[in-house]
Amino acid sequence: MWAMVLNNLRTPLEWTELPDRQPTSGQIRVNVTACGVCRTDLHVVDGELPDPRAPIIPGHEIVGRIDAIGAGVKGLTIGERVGIPWLGHTCGICPYCSVNRENLCDHPVFTGYTRDGGFATATIADARFAFPLGEAGRDVSLAPLLCAGLIGWRSLTMAGSGRKIGLYGFGAAAHILTQVARHQGRSVFAFTRPGDVATQSFARTLGATWAGGSEEMPPEPLDAAIIFATVGDLVPLALKAVRKGGRVVCAGIHMNDIPSFPYALLWEERQLLSVANLTRQDGIDFLRQTPKMDIVTHTTTYPLKNANQALADLRAGLFDGAAVLVP
Ligand SMILES: [Zn+2]
Ligand SMILES: [Zn+2]
Repeated sequence: MWAMVLNNLRTPLEWTELPDRQPTSGQIRVNVTACGVCRTDLHVVDGELPDPRAPIIPGHEIVGRIDAIGAGVKGLTIGERVGIPWLGHTCGICPYCSVNRENLCDHPVFTGYTRDGGFATATIADARFAFPLGEAGRDVSLAPLLCAGLIGWRSLTMAGSGRKIGLYGFGAAAHILTQVARHQGRSVFAFTRPGDVATQSFARTLGATWAGGSEEMPPEPLDAAIIFATVGDLVPLALKAVRKGGRVVCAGIHMNDIPSFPYALLWEERQLLSVANLTRQDGIDFLRQTPKMDIVTHTTTYPLKNANQALADLRAGLFDGAAVLVP
């Protein structure tokens, strides 16, 4: 197999030939056909997450077909198309796993962070954490659903049932979530980098009611806001934009420091919370509904070998929607 390997933090990924790996008990081997590039991959490459590992193969929005099955795997077949997400394994017995909050597991394994991921021609996964994808939809279009879509979905659930939803940071997750929220009959208010009129018009074409810069106030108070950008300064701005009792959900795995702000912004039962990882049930719930939602993912594809370029373009905000690597 071939892979783009992170050998040292803060150095480019290296195109490397590795011996073929065999699935052990409970595992599957998947021939990767598409792997999305997520902002979390940038955090992995930059060493911004706790206890970074190297060498590691990043990538956790994996679509591919099973080509080998380990002992004891049930319900999956050779040739079946599956998706492999960020949550790669949980312990099943910690206090969080015991109460259906496996996203907070004390001993998790994360694809592309603590276990090799999908910037490769093949990968190994715990079969219980792979999602069967069926045959509807193209591999490249489905890949961004596996993290951008799923984390967006969990964030929207955490945001509550309000109709007016603000999205701060209009990248891969927000462009999917706008379509999900519209399908649910909600209104979306899109906040981009100040002056980024191209992304603002992209948001409107996807159905956003309003789009503007992150320092602007929306035309009416929001019921909830979800922050996808890694910018801590957005937290007080989002609190200011939500109504009494409204919620602000921080959806990223990493954010720079949140500046101090007057208590009045939180007062009146506004809530500030974060979303971490996903549960398998999130994936089942979301992927069951996506075929009915007619989600169109806007993708920019790169050959797997060009993963460093894809990461650089993501960092620079050079494309709308999501980047996807194709082996
Ligand atoms: Zn656990
Ligand atoms: Zn991700």
